[in-house]
Amino acid sequence: MSDRRDFIKKAALGTIGISSVLSCSSTTANTAVIPTVKPTKKAVKPLVISTWNHGLPANEETWKQLKNGKSALDAIEAGMKIPEADPEVRSVGYGGFPDREGKVTLDACIMDHNSDCGSVSFLQGIKHPISVAKKVLQNTPHVMLSGQGALQFALAEGFKEENLLTAEAEADWKKWMEESKYKPVINMENHDTISMLVIDEAGNISGGCTTSGAAWKMHGRVGDSPIIGAGLFLDNEVGAAAATGLGEAVIRTAGSAMVVELMRQGKSPFEACKEIVERIYDKHKNHKDMEYLQVGFIAINKNGEHAGYSLRSGFNYAVCDDAQGNRMEDATFKMPWDN
Ligand code: ASP
Repeated sequence: MSDRRDFIKKAALGTIGISSVLSCSSTTANTAVIPTVKPTKKAVKPLVISTWNHGLPANEETWKQLKNGKSALDAIEAGMKIPEADPEVRSVGYGGFPDREGKVTLDACIMDHNSDCGSVSFLQGIKHPISVAKKVLQNTPHVMLSGQGALQFALAEGFKEENLLTAEAEADWKKWMEESKYKPVINMENHDTISMLVIDEAGNISGGCTTSGAAWKMHGRVGDSPIIGAGLFLDNEVGAAAATGLGEAVIRTAGSAMVVELMRQGKSPFEACKEIVERIYDKHKNHKDMEYLQVGFIAINKNGEHAGYSLRSGFNYAVCDDAQGNRMEDATFKMPWDN
């Protein structure tokens, strides 16, 4: 945690580059300067992009599954199960930070190129909400199941109920209870959804999101991640977008749907993400949430171009393609964290 805090501070001060590399180097570098020229990305497909460092192992698995001929939905599910199962990833699935009642509550969604989607919100006790979301898509007439109903459905589908609160997450929660006394603390350290966007060999687009949401949230709070149009949206004719950061701000602005709509009107993924981040800033600049507001979007278009853009510094995303392998790229940002 403190490493990440230092890292974010340094990144905000522009004192470190924040690319990390799995199998090949990224050529982008983050600066505290607002760019006037949009970065050029080579158009390639297939393509897998995911938010944050935990996107690297997720991308790797998704890529492997796609290359083995699995469907994009199966590949997304397999990739996202990796951070969901990893107790070190404190913002997704097992080991995720709990709410202020000490309960780990999970949100996830998945969407395919036919605009079929499945979503679960406020789900407890199931390690792989992305898999339950996929079952909602495949086996129900609905898009979204929530809370006890989502759990009941998961159990009927054969999922096992288990305790998702690790000793480490519980200790952090108890510490937060002493020091913060229910005052919400929201920043990038406890807000790291994994969102993934995929273009498969056939050029079809799919996506998914999974998260334990904001740490120390009120019991019952649902963020943007399971909401189609907010945390994730795609239109197979146009492209896809997904969000991370303060879910309330993304819901208020229908963030991902707006990014896709701007791409439909001819904007590049970069231009579309930038415009929506700026819109979110404008809507929130006098809002109580501004103090800790961070939002970031990733987007792809039908040509295989991709981009990431965030309000504040520190957001990066994993990109996997045939040309350059699996690597981290830094999102461009509007302002440094201490601005
Ligand atoms: N957007 C998620 C939420 O608000 C959190 C995150 O991206 O980390 O629940």
